[in-house]
Amino acid sequence: MSVEMQNCPQPKSWIAAIHAYVPGKSSGDDGRPLIKLSANENPLGTSPAALAARENAQIPSLYPDPDSTAIRSALGKLHGIDPAHILCGTGSGELLTIAASAFAGPGDEVLYVRYGFSLYEIAARRCGATPVVAADADYGADVDALLAAVTEQTRVVYLANPNNPTGSFTRKTELARLHAALPRDVLLVVDQAYAEYVAPEDDDGALALAASTDNVLVMRTFSKAYGLAGERVGWATGAPPLIEVLNRIRGPFNTSNSAQATCLAALADQDFVEHSRLHNAAERARFVDALAALGNHGIRPLPSQANFVLILFEGALTGEAAYNGLAERGYITRWLPGQGLPHGLRITIGTAEQMDAIAAALREMAEAAK
Ligand SMILES: *Cc1c(COP(=O)(O)O)cnc(C)c1O
Repeated sequence: MSVEMQNCPQPKSWIAAIHAYVPGKSSGDDGRPLIKLSANENPLGTSPAALAARENAQIPSLYPDPDSTAIRSALGKLHGIDPAHILCGTGSGELLTIAASAFAGPGDEVLYVRYGFSLYEIAARRCGATPVVAADADYGADVDALLAAVTEQTRVVYLANPNNPTGSFTRKTELARLHAALPRDVLLVVDQAYAEYVAPEDDDGALALAASTDNVLVMRTFSKAYGLAGERVGWATGAPPLIEVLNRIRGPFNTSNSAQATCLAALADQDFVEHSRLHNAAERARFVDALAALGNHGIRPLPSQANFVLILFEGALTGEAAYNGLAERGYITRWLPGQGLPHGLRITIGTAEQMDAIAAALREMAEAAK
């Protein structure tokens, strides 16, 4: 280490090991604005009622309600949860991150599945814990592999359901099996960022587990189906001792005046959420059908329960070439070499017109690549 390096503040070794979170891009490398299908935002925008409420939010010179009381009470009504068992965060990202900090530290292990959400590694390292990655089963979560990776040091297990970036879904029976076999003192965090896109009959049972056990936290967000990624609100629910601990270390005033007003109105407009789910299910099915014709080109969309599809490029057309080709045509998608998926392109389900254009472009590129 150079003398100059020693003469300035040094990050802890576990912080120095973190690679910053890579957000989905919104413009091309030349700065040209592109149609953004890289961050799983809602192509239908936001509920008009929520937009109207945003205009009438508390004036910005005043601090917001520190406890997000109105949103928690509306969430409690909607989901049948005692609002005292709900905590809001600056996006679910804040809550996912502090969950590791609260329950793990140096010498402890934080476990998640391969191709899990990239924030889990950052959350684990940030508190000095060791990230441990369990093998996947054809890109989905493998409960047996997760359980086999549990050690005496395991303190937190993260599972996104549906998972980002794969779109894979862990069924209720499998999730229950994972929970039942985990030691009682291991925290299971079920990240349901895309839960509103899952058909109600396919519910994974995580909210019921959070309500009936002492070691499960469920995290949800307004960023996806509610179309409010820019307002930065997420929430967690679980047993009161878990919520109480996270409450001590969250940011004070962690949801803004405008976020509180907007999310409250968005919760009241469940028609918008339902419309978003149905639009997504229909367009995702149409898109996957269109891609099925490209199977002989080694193009394989993974089954998805979310508002995106991870497409694997295992033939002449590579993931990188597909990414660049779509960008040239005006679409920014998410190529994932940094997550061990150089052959994978994650594409958010957009409008019907956008999905038709992308399917046609992929076909054209695949045929040209032969
Ligand atoms: C988008 C996403 C979130 C939500 O992040 P916010 O901080 O609430 O915007 C959480 N988990 C996963 C897996 C996601 O894809």
